[in-house]
Amino acid sequence: MDDIGKKTVVIDGDIHPNALALFDARDDIAIIQVALEDTVALADAATAANGILARSARVTPELVASANGLQIVSRHGVGFDRVDIGALTARNIPLTVTGTANSPSVAEHALMFMLGCAKRLRPSDRRTREGDFLNARHELGRIELLEKKVLIIGFGRIGKIVARRCQGFDMQVLAYDPYINQEVISDAGVTPIQDFRHILSDIDFLTVHVPLSEETENLIGVAELAKMKSTAILVNCARGGIVNEAALYDALKEDRLFGAGIDVFAVEPTPGDHPLFKLDNVLVNPHAAASAAECLERMGIQAAQNILDHFDGRLDPLMVINSEVL
Ligand code: NAD
Repeated sequence: MDDIGKKTVVIDGDIHPNALALFDARDDIAIIQVALEDTVALADAATAANGILARSARVTPELVASANGLQIVSRHGVGFDRVDIGALTARNIPLTVTGTANSPSVAEHALMFMLGCAKRLRPSDRRTREGDFLNARHELGRIELLEKKVLIIGFGRIGKIVARRCQGFDMQVLAYDPYINQEVISDAGVTPIQDFRHILSDIDFLTVHVPLSEETENLIGVAELAKMKSTAILVNCARGGIVNEAALYDALKEDRLFGAGIDVFAVEPTPGDHPLFKLDNVLVNPHAAASAAECLERMGIQAAQNILDHFDGRLDPLMVINSEVL
């Protein structure tokens, strides 16, 4: 069968083989794969697209306008700050995400950063390898998570799992999320916080799990960092731009913060000369919190399934961001 009469799905980058297999098993689907960040190839392919499975694709109003047959955009992940929702909604095109597929992996990453910073993992590892064994053992001033106060900003899919993991470490868990029923927070054994800025001076760990939006850009900046204890640790596995990088650099450089774990940056891919990369009290990763093998498989399968479900008229509304189009 040639591609006439088939629905065309455009994918930027690779997805898990078991996700591709879902498309391959159907004789009514044709696939076009373009390289990650190849905007020219993406723009070209989009003109034929009935579905776009977007790993890191920027889905701009221009791209949407050029895709006359577009019926769905399916994010391979849950962040959708690279997608112009307005352009999709105006054409009744659903934007889907992969639900809880990546939540456990991101939550594990947040805990990894908390533990790694608390135990001074970076200088400890480096100095041990350099033969500075005894000084590295005695000088680094490691701390525990036990009974420490952790504030989770954003009590959604990921924030809730982070809370459970922190409870497993016998931490005192607090959460700030004004957009949900506060009973969801208290029912999880977590203390709801009405104004997070008021308690910044009292917490030991801060981890952000909110989307990047006009409201959350620079949510943690100079003023917020100035309130935090010099023994506190900050984690951002959400999006670059939510924590102001220049303010964070100053706080870490001047030891006004014990440490930070940063998975996401304002500019990605992030150049190797980023100031934060020069500091020993920060752990960094290349936006890899959802890059565990199991997580990539779950995300790929869910992202592909969302497209097929929409074509088949049985899309799960829980996966849809602009639910008004349903
Ligand atoms: P979610 O939508 O389930 O949860 C987000 C929560 O944030 C919601 O409960 C919402 O009410 C809350 N919120 C929104 N604005 C807020 C504000 N100003 N203050 C406090 N709370 C606010 O999303 P999720 O699946 O938990 O993912 C959270 C974010 O993590 C995503 O938006 C994405 O950007 C990021 N993420 C990053 C990676 C990674 O690889 N580093 C992977 C997955 C998700």
